Amino acid sequence: MTDLNTDVRFLKGIGEKKAQALNRLGVFSLRDLVSFFPRRYEDRSERKPIALTQDGESVCVEAMVADTPRLTRVRRGLELVKLRAVDDSGVLDITYFNMPYAKDNLRRGESYIFYGRIEASGPRRSMVNPVAEKAEGERKLTGRILPVYRLTAGLTQRDLLQAVRRSLDACLSELPDVLPHAVRERNALAQTGYAFENIHFPKDFEALELARRRLIFEELFVLACALGKMRGERSKEPGLRMEPSDLTRFWAALPFAPTGAQRRAAEEAMRDMDSGSVMNRLVQGDVGSGKTLVAAALIWHTAQNGAMSAFMAPTEILAEQHYATLTELLGPLGLRIGKLTGAMTAKEKRLVREKLKNGELDLVIGTHALFSADVEYARLGLVVTDEQHRFGVGQRSALIGKGQRPHVLVMSATPIPRTLALIIYGDLDVSVMDELPPGRQKVDTFAVDESYRARLNGFIRKLVSEGRQVFVVCPMVEENDELPQKLKSAEEHAGELRRTFPDLRVACVHGKMKAKDKEAVMAAMAAGQIDILVATTVIEVGVDVPNAALIIVENAERFGLSQLHQLRGRVGRGKHKSWCILVSDNDGEENRARLGIMTKTNDGFKISEEDLRLRGPGDFFGSRQHGLPEMHAADLGADVNVLQKAQQEATLVLAADPGLTAPEHAPLRESVERLITRSADSFN
Ligand code: ADP
Ligand code: MG
Repeated sequence: MTDLNTDVRFLKGIGEKKAQALNRLGVFSLRDLVSFFPRRYEDRSERKPIALTQDGESVCVEAMVADTPRLTRVRRGLELVKLRAVDDSGVLDITYFNMPYAKDNLRRGESYIFYGRIEASGPRRSMVNPVAEKAEGERKLTGRILPVYRLTAGLTQRDLLQAVRRSLDACLSELPDVLPHAVRERNALAQTGYAFENIHFPKDFEALELARRRLIFEELFVLACALGKMRGERSKEPGLRMEPSDLTRFWAALPFAPTGAQRRAAEEAMRDMDSGSVMNRLVQGDVGSGKTLVAAALIWHTAQNGAMSAFMAPTEILAEQHYATLTELLGPLGLRIGKLTGAMTAKEKRLVREKLKNGELDLVIGTHALFSADVEYARLGLVVTDEQHRFGVGQRSALIGKGQRPHVLVMSATPIPRTLALIIYGDLDVSVMDELPPGRQKVDTFAVDESYRARLNGFIRKLVSEGRQVFVVCPMVEENDELPQKLKSAEEHAGELRRTFPDLRVACVHGKMKAKDKEAVMAAMAAGQIDILVATTVIEVGVDVPNAALIIVENAERFGLSQLHQLRGRVGRGKHKSWCILVSDNDGEENRARLGIMTKTNDGFKISEEDLRLRGPGDFFGSRQHGLPEMHAADLGADVNVLQKAQQEATLVLAADPGLTAPEHAPLRESVERLITRSADSFN
């Protein structure tokens, strides 16, 4: 019996070798095979008379072989088969390279459909290595839209075509409909069987579109259900119940009043922590919205309850900076604070580990070192992670495993479009900080090209003479990067600036430097000992230099919009009027549109929405930064509407049936559980 769980090696035509090749593509069962969607399609449906074909087009022609195909051996390893084919309109010269069997497969006087790329020169038409099928009888390779699959060594398109065809024939009728009937109806979605058939072997482009829409919807819907279900279950997990503390005491100790958004986020989180269930909350706030303070309030709250907090930062620089900030904020309130970073000596680390084990610290700040196997916590009550998407979600869970279900606060400054946030952070509760501390000035942003260089240098000169500091960001240059245009490496560019400004203090910081050296440079920048700091994106997240009033981004076309927005957030953090200059010589329309968005708004959420609109959700899912499991269909070009609808429907279904236990939800539940198991690494 063949069913969906049958191993692909039992499929006719798939031996051990091919089965292993399929396994490498992540295909193990027939279910995987029918869910292995084509990468693209080849339109072999159009047929033309020879005389009407045009140079460069790929097309089918029906023609009769007019002479006996001739095999010639040009030299060892190069055999040619040549023949002429004709139709009413003209002649087609055909050549096969190293396919000697073509000589016997194609018979003089018989008609075939040839599919291939036309080369035209004057009235002459030719094709190289066309696909050929008898014009009479069933045609599998021509006259239709053909799927093109991702391949690996040991597999051909034909293997995959056949294998997919056979699995569809074997179990198309068995494919359960994962979508509840009402959901399918409401959204006018195609049926399962139709969708799987037509995503692989579309009848026409309309059918393909229906299939695609249904499968994308289904995938996002199942994902939304999985995340929603996990969130529901998690919110029932018992957590360390904390006694409410009086935050006014904490706020009163600050040099400034908290914003409404800060108050709200802290109170929402405190309510979670005092509820007896474990907290999983994301604080999403634009750069500079003051997320650190929210974390500090909760760390204080945790300490009031006699438990420890661990604060993870994605880089050493940020860990150092948070250590300094939090020590300043929380030290005077009596908290005992330590740090644990890769740059510390073995002895220093041991000392801190000792204290953590004995419960002699209230807060430890660090990088990945915080969750290495040899770190034990006496009573870990709260884990804060900063800029979460830079951590694998799996790493986060390693730390969570250290305590008895500590509360988790995730802080992200990457504004995710609202439409995606629910899905990407579907398993977290979200507080949005949509308010900046008072007195912030908008960072004026301009997009310029190389012709502005002299003026730009003049501007640097002016600002530095007023006592300000400048960031210059260059894209990371990978060693194997093909350089289509000249990219500025940070070091080269620093050299250039030193020659232009021999009297100014120019420094450079990049990812390849030792952590200690990077820190030294950043510390010097923060202390005002550097006028111009040239950097790669190591400064992207979090670094605080209130005296910096200008950031210049070189080769701005190489950066994503969210990244540019993050970079811009490095300035305008103090009382000084600040600027962001995006330098790019790429005057492509798309690039201009993207940079244009940056110059028009300072609102991170708006920027991410625009980015989504320009790139489509496939890019967001494809980037693999978010810690979600791999998506199959969503990459096929999901649009935001489908995403939103799928999310809404998932919310409705889960509200009515949180455990998905209703009989009509059985296939859905199975699908959701399969996704959760398959993705155990990504989620959690
Ligand atoms: P982000 O959300 O980007 O992490 P930070 O927590 O680093 O922002 O805060 C940015 C800056 O704003 C810091 O210098 C911080 O001291 C300051 N800040 C935070 N909250 C307030 C407030 N309520 N009023 C004034 N300044 C604040
Ligand atoms: Mg921050």
